[in-house]
Amino acid sequence: MRKKIVAANWKMNLTLAQGEQLINDILAAGIRLAEGQEVVISTPFPYLVKAKSLLKNYPGFYVGAQNCYSEKSGAYTGEVSAEMLQSIGVDYVILGHSERREYFQESNEMLAKKVDQALAFGLKPIFCCGEPLAIRQAETQNAYVAKQLEESLYYLTEEQLKQVVIAYEPIWAIGTGLTASAAQAQDMHAFIRSQIAAKYGREAALCMSILYGGSAKPGNAEELFACPDVDGGLIGGASLVATDFAAIVSKL
Ligand code: PGA
Repeated sequence: MRKKIVAANWKMNLTLAQGEQLINDILAAGIRLAEGQEVVISTPFPYLVKAKSLLKNYPGFYVGAQNCYSEKSGAYTGEVSAEMLQSIGVDYVILGHSERREYFQESNEMLAKKVDQALAFGLKPIFCCGEPLAIRQAETQNAYVAKQLEESLYYLTEEQLKQVVIAYEPIWAIGTGLTASAAQAQDMHAFIRSQIAAKYGREAALCMSILYGGSAKPGNAEELFACPDVDGGLIGGASLVATDFAAIVSKL
């Protein structure tokens, strides 16, 4: 019913030649996607056109950007708009990654504008949420994530919301080798779905794909993806190694 997705997030890694090689190796790994399963490769901006052309004959494989700007166009030197991404055939855009929130001061309010831009130009946002360690230790992670969702997403109509994929990424698990346990991931994913249900109704909540991110790897993907409310993963480090990434996809 809802899509199962494994999305690669290359972050600021690889040259064009290395990225091309990685995509070719992933395609050569013999991944078989079942109905309703998708792979998204989120590359740095300069490689998106190339990635799109490499993936175009592979059903179920999509291209994602890692960011877009909050305004439509104009004097914003160095920024990339959702319309530009649409014009080169990009399918998805990661928004609100914790690194963007931390290093580039992206607020919930700014992210609402980015989500708006993405949807206006037919891009599917992969909207990231998740708490820092201190919040997890204080056991207030549910309220923290609820506020992120409320301030960036809840102005959307139900039709718009259905275009959004949510990625729950506890910050303390990103790139640290610490993974949330399957129980912790399931608890938060079920909580997120219950929040969506409270705002948009049960049917909308059941349609929503909610991905887990944070040190997901071949060894833990199966257990994470087996959780009833975990619909796949957003993969950083392990997405840079073709065999690891393919192994993670095979656990969908
Ligand atoms: P990681 O990154 O898999 O390297 O922890 C995940 C992410 O930041 O999206």
